Amino acid sequence: MAIIHNLGFPRIGGRRELKFALEKYWNGEANAEELVQAAQARFDDNLSRQANLDLQPVGDFSLYDHVLDHIIMFGNTPSRCKAGDDELHQYFRLARGRAPHDDVEQQVAAGEMTKWFDTNYHYIVPEFTCETSFTLNDKALIKQIHRARSQGFDAKPVVIGPLTYLSLGKAKDNVAPLALLEKLLPAYLQLLRNISRCGVEWVQIDEPALVTDLSSEWQQAYHVAYQALSQSPVKLLLTTYFGPLENNLKLATQLPVDGLHIDAVRARHEVETVAKELAPHKVLSLGVIDGRNIWKSDLSATLDWLEPVARNRGNALWIAPSCSLLHVPVDLNSESRMDPEIKSWLAFATQKLNEVELLGIALNKGREAVANQLAENREALLRRRISPRVHNETVRQAVAAIKPEDLTRHSPFSVRNQTHKTHLDLPLYPTTTIGSFPQTSQIRNLRRERNAGTLSVEHYNTAIKAIIAECIKEQEQLGLDVLVHGEAERNDMVEYFGEQLEGFVFTQFGWVQSYGSRCVKPPVIYGDVRRPHPMTVAWAKYAQSCTAKPLKGMLTGPVTILNWSFVRDDQPRWQTCQQIGLAIRDEVLDLEKAGISMIQIDEAALREGLPLRKSGWQTYLNWAVDAFRLSANAVKDATQIHTHMCYSEFNDIIESIARLDADVISIETSRSDMALLDAFNHFDYPNQIGPGVYDIHSPNTPSTESMVYLLKQAAGKLPAQNLWVNPDCGLKTRRWDEVKPALENMVQAAKVLRQQV
Ligand code: GLN
Ligand code: ZN
Repeated sequence: MAIIHNLGFPRIGGRRELKFALEKYWNGEANAEELVQAAQARFDDNLSRQANLDLQPVGDFSLYDHVLDHIIMFGNTPSRCKAGDDELHQYFRLARGRAPHDDVEQQVAAGEMTKWFDTNYHYIVPEFTCETSFTLNDKALIKQIHRARSQGFDAKPVVIGPLTYLSLGKAKDNVAPLALLEKLLPAYLQLLRNISRCGVEWVQIDEPALVTDLSSEWQQAYHVAYQALSQSPVKLLLTTYFGPLENNLKLATQLPVDGLHIDAVRARHEVETVAKELAPHKVLSLGVIDGRNIWKSDLSATLDWLEPVARNRGNALWIAPSCSLLHVPVDLNSESRMDPEIKSWLAFATQKLNEVELLGIALNKGREAVANQLAENREALLRRRISPRVHNETVRQAVAAIKPEDLTRHSPFSVRNQTHKTHLDLPLYPTTTIGSFPQTSQIRNLRRERNAGTLSVEHYNTAIKAIIAECIKEQEQLGLDVLVHGEAERNDMVEYFGEQLEGFVFTQFGWVQSYGSRCVKPPVIYGDVRRPHPMTVAWAKYAQSCTAKPLKGMLTGPVTILNWSFVRDDQPRWQTCQQIGLAIRDEVLDLEKAGISMIQIDEAALREGLPLRKSGWQTYLNWAVDAFRLSANAVKDATQIHTHMCYSEFNDIIESIARLDADVISIETSRSDMALLDAFNHFDYPNQIGPGVYDIHSPNTPSTESMVYLLKQAAGKLPAQNLWVNPDCGLKTRRWDEVKPALENMVQAAKVLRQQV
């Protein structure tokens, strides 16, 4: 009998219930007990949606972030967060720099955040020093296990494995994270013992680091770690996902564990080898349903290759989604407004579990038992393949007509830079922002009313214009040098464009957690992409008419639109990216024509698309950079192209960053103390750069001194005439009363630096 299970479920809730509960708690509108109750309701709902599985994941649920949960569970909390002994307060201090009701003295630097493998989920980075020790504090997990078991579920706790945990962290001194393994293992062993005492049989121990390039030292450490953990009384399902094991395949199959899960979507070609290498008494768990996209799986095709594997494996075969379903929305059934044809091609988390279930029945009872469902599935896939809505001849022709010179600016940066100096008249250390200003409840209400039809488009536009005018006035009063319109009309930097481009469909409730309470609603790219009309020009033109200062037009770049969307799986990603590049190029040219002299094309997610293995990087970077160049480089010399990237490490991609040839790049740096600038320094990066000096992810107000300090650091690494002054990222998640003093201090910091030259 094949066993069916799941690796993890989205925790934010189909209606983002957890997000709202968290925000109420942070704002002081709800107490800790109310927050816990709301979280338990989510937890219970998640379990009930997984009731048909043989095993339910537990411990995948988290109030804010599962890596943060592990930091707390292993007593790895940085001492700066420890004031008082309220654990929830410590938790949120590390997450966001402050707990509710913290006074200024208790506020701290929040933990650094970075992307979870190649996803758009961000986790809090564990911090390690030579002094780091670990003490087990597993109350929260044990409570979840009891809660699930008391409801009759066969709980399978999910724990990040010790080596992936260490590899996710960052050394704050010269400690080598691997050197901490010896100290960490006893805590893991104790944890597994405690779990076993709850009556649990299986633990899912996640080691996705096994699909990345590992040095022999790290590979060796896996042997050490799992030898030690094999003494635990529970059975371990070593779980890998997001890619093939490649040169770690032998290692993964040989470790002394009771089962191995592999991503049988991205590593389909390894299934037979893994099945052969893995001892027959061990469980082989195959992630056969794609946990990274929203397309229906081809169930019959899956069964074609899965059935022989199942026959060979007998009882020891488990099936599941390829990875945790954290990266897809909760339930397609909530989409009442979606075009039914497109909807019939899709599956969200709940539907994906349904697919797993159907495959399980087909394997255990034969395909006849689910013949109707399989036929329906085949039918839906066929209709998608032949749908005329997917293919657009105009787009195909435009792509075929792209010439290499379309990707290159007329003059090199040195020439453009001179032109900008005469045309733009900016001071040294020009100040600007990344684009968005606070999305107030007034703005959200306007949008809601417009969408509900209770507010006419005309009234909506008038109201948004008033907000833009107000936002411009505020920026002028703050004394910023380059203004933005504030993005009030945008719900989300990708969805806004997706809604206006052909080939995209958007959801009502397709939320996916990005970090903590922040969610995104990725559009679905189902067909050829075309821009039927200008998307931002009217707003930018209006904003520019409100001010004599230069205004940056604001666009999202093709790579980011691609990486933050659910992308069609019937053509290579680069082709879809190129189509988007052409659409943005049209928009850039229309903005230029409308008199906008600076255009920012955000590529916040460029790095996110990097394959997990270095061997795939160059291919990706080549086409990604080309798509950006296609979108940006048709403009005249006098137009200044900006780009923005968040959460990026630049060392290993600096050549590609330079090849973008943006006149100005703004990046996130404040939490990393400007260390990210070293890459630009070593490369002698010639173009201009705005290192973020204000951490917008924390509600704390940065002082002028802290920003002067950061700017001085930056000026030590890069020529002052190349530097801009800006926050780390957009301000949409902040409140005006947070933004104003922060920007005031920022403008002041730029003045201090100008005086010192
Ligand atoms: N222009 C966008 C904003 O300010 C950029 C956001 C981002 O980089 N994530 O909101
Ligand atoms: Zn950003």
